[in-house]
Amino acid sequence: MSTSSRREEDNNADAPFFKIILIGDSGVGKSNLLSRFCHNKFTLQFNSTIGVEYTTKTLTIHGHPIMAQIWDTSGHTKLRPITDAYYRGAAGALLVYDVTRHITFVNTHKWLADLRNHADPNMVVTLVGNKSDVRQSVMVSTEVGKSFAEKESLYFVETSALRATNVEHAFTDLVANIYRNQVNRKR
Ligand code: GDP
Repeated sequence: MSTSSRREEDNNADAPFFKIILIGDSGVGKSNLLSRFCHNKFTLQFNSTIGVEYTTKTLTIHGHPIMAQIWDTSGHTKLRPITDAYYRGAAGALLVYDVTRHITFVNTHKWLADLRNHADPNMVVTLVGNKSDVRQSVMVSTEVGKSFAEKESLYFVETSALRATNVEHAFTDLVANIYRNQVNRKR
Protein backbone atom coordinates (compact mmCIF):
# COMPACT_ATOMS: atom_id res chain seq x y z
CA MET A 1 0.00 0.00 0.00
CA SER A 2 1.33 3.50 -0.82
CA THR A 3 1.98 6.12 1.88
CA SER A 4 -0.76 8.37 0.47
CA SER A 5 -3.22 5.46 0.63
CA ARG A 6 -2.31 4.86 4.27
CA ARG A 7 -2.81 8.58 5.00
CA GLU A 8 -6.25 8.45 3.30
CA GLU A 9 -7.22 5.45 5.43
CA ASP A 10 -6.11 7.24 8.62
CA ASN A 11 -8.00 10.43 7.75
CA ASN A 12 -11.23 8.62 6.88
CA ALA A 13 -11.30 5.96 9.54
CA ASP A 14 -15.07 6.34 10.07
CA ALA A 15 -16.09 6.30 6.40
CA PRO A 16 -17.68 3.07 5.13
CA PHE A 17 -15.28 1.22 2.93
CA PHE A 18 -15.84 -0.97 -0.12
CA LYS A 19 -13.35 -3.40 -1.53
CA ILE A 20 -13.26 -3.23 -5.31
CA ILE A 21 -11.32 -5.60 -7.52
CA LEU A 22 -9.97 -5.24 -11.03
CA ILE A 23 -10.07 -8.41 -13.10
CA GLY A 24 -9.44 -9.29 -16.73
CA ASP A 25 -6.63 -10.54 -18.93
CA SER A 26 -3.10 -9.28 -18.68
CA GLY A 27 -2.41 -6.16 -20.77
CA VAL A 28 -6.01 -4.89 -20.97
CA GLY A 29 -5.10 -1.78 -18.98
CA LYS A 30 -6.15 -2.54 -15.40
CA SER A 31 -3.08 -0.94 -13.78
CA ASN A 32 -3.40 2.13 -15.97
CA LEU A 33 -7.10 2.53 -15.20
CA LEU A 34 -6.21 2.43 -11.51
CA SER A 35 -3.31 4.86 -11.78
CA ARG A 36 -5.34 7.20 -14.01
CA PHE A 37 -8.17 7.19 -11.48
CA CYS A 38 -6.06 7.51 -8.33
CA HIS A 39 -3.05 9.52 -9.48
CA ASN A 40 -4.06 10.86 -12.93
CA LYS A 41 -1.06 9.03 -14.41
CA PHE A 42 -0.66 6.83 -17.47
CA THR A 43 2.33 4.74 -18.55
CA LEU A 44 3.02 3.40 -22.04
CA GLN A 45 5.33 0.75 -20.70
CA PHE A 46 3.70 -2.60 -20.04
CA ASN A 47 4.81 -4.02 -16.69
CA SER A 48 2.81 -7.09 -15.84
CA THR A 49 1.57 -6.52 -12.31
CA ILE A 50 3.53 -8.53 -9.78
CA GLY A 51 1.37 -10.04 -7.09
CA VAL A 52 -1.50 -8.00 -5.78
CA GLU A 53 -1.55 -4.35 -4.83
CA TYR A 54 -4.28 -2.08 -3.60
CA THR A 55 -4.83 1.65 -3.49
CA THR A 56 -7.34 3.55 -1.41
CA LYS A 57 -9.30 6.57 -2.53
CA THR A 58 -12.10 8.45 -0.78
CA LEU A 59 -15.11 9.33 -2.89
CA THR A 60 -18.19 11.37 -2.02
CA ILE A 61 -21.36 9.53 -2.97
CA HIS A 62 -24.70 11.28 -2.37
CA GLY A 63 -22.91 13.50 0.15
CA HIS A 64 -21.34 10.57 2.05
CA PRO A 65 -17.59 9.91 2.16
CA ILE A 66 -16.83 6.35 1.07
CA MET A 67 -13.43 4.75 1.00
CA ALA A 68 -12.80 2.60 -2.05
CA GLN A 69 -10.03 0.08 -1.56
CA ILE A 70 -9.15 -0.91 -5.12
CA TRP A 71 -7.21 -4.11 -5.74
CA ASP A 72 -5.22 -4.79 -8.86
CA THR A 73 -3.65 -8.02 -9.99
CA SER A 74 -2.24 -9.43 -13.20
CA GLY A 75 -4.26 -11.78 -15.41
CA HIS A 76 -1.36 -14.26 -15.48
CA THR A 77 -3.35 -16.82 -13.62
CA LYS A 78 -1.09 -19.74 -14.52
CA LEU A 79 1.88 -18.07 -12.89
CA ARG A 80 0.06 -16.47 -10.01
CA PRO A 81 -3.35 -17.99 -9.50
CA ILE A 82 -5.94 -15.59 -8.18
CA THR A 83 -6.85 -16.87 -4.80
CA ASP A 84 -10.08 -16.74 -2.85
CA ALA A 85 -8.50 -13.99 -0.75
CA TYR A 86 -8.56 -11.67 -3.74
CA TYR A 87 -12.31 -12.09 -4.15
CA ARG A 88 -13.11 -12.27 -0.44
CA GLY A 89 -15.05 -9.28 0.87
CA ALA A 90 -15.18 -7.58 -2.53
CA ALA A 91 -18.33 -5.51 -3.00
CA GLY A 92 -17.66 -4.66 -6.62
CA ALA A 93 -15.56 -5.50 -9.64
CA LEU A 94 -14.43 -3.87 -12.85
CA LEU A 95 -14.18 -6.69 -15.38
CA VAL A 96 -11.89 -5.26 -18.05
CA TYR A 97 -11.23 -6.27 -21.66
CA ASP A 98 -9.29 -4.56 -24.44
CA VAL A 99 -11.57 -3.46 -27.30
CA THR A 100 -8.69 -4.08 -29.74
CA ARG A 101 -8.10 -7.72 -28.68
CA HIS A 102 -11.12 -9.96 -29.19
CA ILE A 103 -9.69 -12.79 -27.09
CA THR A 104 -9.72 -10.57 -24.02
CA PHE A 105 -13.46 -10.09 -24.52
CA VAL A 106 -14.02 -13.85 -25.01
CA ASN A 107 -12.11 -14.41 -21.78
CA THR A 108 -14.44 -12.14 -19.82
CA HIS A 109 -16.85 -15.11 -19.86
CA LYS A 110 -14.29 -17.15 -17.90
CA TRP A 111 -13.52 -14.28 -15.55
CA LEU A 112 -17.23 -13.86 -14.88
CA ALA A 113 -17.66 -17.58 -14.18
CA ASP A 114 -14.70 -17.47 -11.79
CA LEU A 115 -16.17 -14.42 -10.09
CA ARG A 116 -19.54 -16.07 -9.70
CA ASN A 117 -17.91 -19.18 -8.23
CA HIS A 118 -15.88 -17.31 -5.67
CA ALA A 119 -17.40 -13.94 -4.93
CA ASP A 120 -20.38 -12.61 -3.00
CA PRO A 121 -23.52 -13.11 -5.15
CA ASN A 122 -24.54 -9.50 -4.42
CA MET A 123 -21.34 -8.17 -5.91
CA VAL A 124 -21.84 -5.31 -8.37
CA VAL A 125 -19.94 -5.82 -11.63
CA THR A 126 -19.18 -3.37 -14.42
CA LEU A 127 -17.94 -4.65 -17.76
CA VAL A 128 -15.26 -2.25 -19.03
CA GLY A 129 -14.12 -2.09 -22.66
CA ASN A 130 -10.79 -0.26 -22.36
CA LYS A 131 -8.56 1.40 -25.03
CA SER A 132 -11.52 3.10 -26.71
CA ASP A 133 -9.02 5.65 -28.09
CA VAL A 134 -7.67 3.10 -30.62
CA ARG A 135 -10.72 3.40 -32.86
CA GLN A 136 -9.03 2.12 -36.04
CA SER A 137 -8.33 -1.34 -34.58
CA VAL A 138 -11.50 -1.96 -32.60
CA MET A 139 -12.34 -5.69 -32.60
CA VAL A 140 -15.19 -5.60 -30.11
CA SER A 141 -17.92 -3.12 -30.97
CA THR A 142 -19.78 -1.12 -28.35
CA GLU A 143 -22.99 -2.99 -29.26
CA VAL A 144 -21.41 -6.41 -28.66
CA GLY A 145 -19.99 -5.32 -25.30
CA LYS A 146 -23.24 -3.71 -24.24
CA SER A 147 -25.41 -6.65 -25.21
CA PHE A 148 -23.19 -9.13 -23.31
CA ALA A 149 -23.38 -6.83 -20.27
CA GLU A 150 -27.18 -6.66 -20.52
CA LYS A 151 -27.47 -10.44 -20.87
CA GLU A 152 -25.35 -10.96 -17.76
CA SER A 153 -26.90 -8.09 -15.74
CA LEU A 154 -23.67 -6.12 -15.62
CA TYR A 155 -23.18 -2.39 -15.93
CA PHE A 156 -21.21 -1.37 -19.01
CA VAL A 157 -18.78 1.38 -19.94
CA GLU A 158 -16.07 1.96 -22.54
CA THR A 159 -12.96 3.74 -21.29
CA SER A 160 -9.58 5.04 -22.33
CA ALA A 161 -6.99 5.13 -19.58
CA LEU A 162 -4.73 6.88 -22.11
CA ARG A 163 -7.13 9.75 -22.80
CA ALA A 164 -8.78 9.63 -19.35
CA THR A 165 -12.16 9.00 -20.98
CA ASN A 166 -14.87 7.64 -18.65
CA VAL A 167 -12.30 6.41 -16.11
CA GLU A 168 -13.63 8.52 -13.25
CA HIS A 169 -17.14 7.57 -14.33
CA ALA A 170 -16.34 3.80 -14.31
CA PHE A 171 -15.06 3.84 -10.72
CA THR A 172 -17.48 6.34 -9.18
CA ASP A 173 -20.56 4.76 -10.79
CA LEU A 174 -19.46 1.36 -9.51
CA VAL A 175 -19.11 2.72 -5.98
CA ALA A 176 -22.45 4.57 -6.26
CA ASN A 177 -24.15 1.37 -7.45
CA ILE A 178 -22.65 -0.64 -4.58
CA TYR A 179 -23.82 2.03 -2.15
CA ARG A 180 -27.36 1.98 -3.61
CA ASN A 181 -27.40 -1.81 -3.51
CA GLN A 182 -26.41 -1.89 0.15
CA VAL A 183 -28.92 0.79 1.16
CA ASN A 184 -31.71 -1.08 -0.66
CA ARG A 185 -30.77 -4.38 0.98
CA LYS A 186 -30.96 -2.79 4.46
CA ARG A 187 -34.54 -1.64 3.82
P1 GDP B 1 -2.79 -4.69 -17.11
O1 GDP B 1 -1.85 -5.83 -17.33
O2 GDP B 1 -4.20 -5.09 -17.38
O3 GDP B 1 -2.62 -4.03 -15.77
O4 GDP B 1 -2.45 -3.58 -18.25
P2 GDP B 1 -1.57 -2.24 -18.17
O5 GDP B 1 -2.29 -1.17 -17.44
O6 GDP B 1 -0.20 -2.57 -17.69
O7 GDP B 1 -1.53 -1.83 -19.71
C1 GDP B 1 -1.02 -2.70 -20.70
C2 GDP B 1 -0.59 -1.90 -21.92
O8 GDP B 1 -1.73 -1.27 -22.52
C3 GDP B 1 0.40 -0.76 -21.61
O9 GDP B 1 1.35 -0.70 -22.68
C4 GDP B 1 -0.45 0.48 -21.59
O10 GDP B 1 0.27 1.63 -21.97
C5 GDP B 1 -1.53 0.12 -22.61
N1 GDP B 1 -2.81 0.77 -22.29
C6 GDP B 1 -3.50 0.71 -21.14
N2 GDP B 1 -4.65 1.42 -21.20
C7 GDP B 1 -4.68 1.95 -22.46
C8 GDP B 1 -5.62 2.79 -23.14
O11 GDP B 1 -6.66 3.21 -22.65
N3 GDP B 1 -5.32 3.09 -24.46
C9 GDP B 1 -4.18 2.65 -25.07
N4 GDP B 1 -3.98 3.02 -26.34
N5 GDP B 1 -3.27 1.87 -24.46
C10 GDP B 1 -3.52 1.53 -23.15
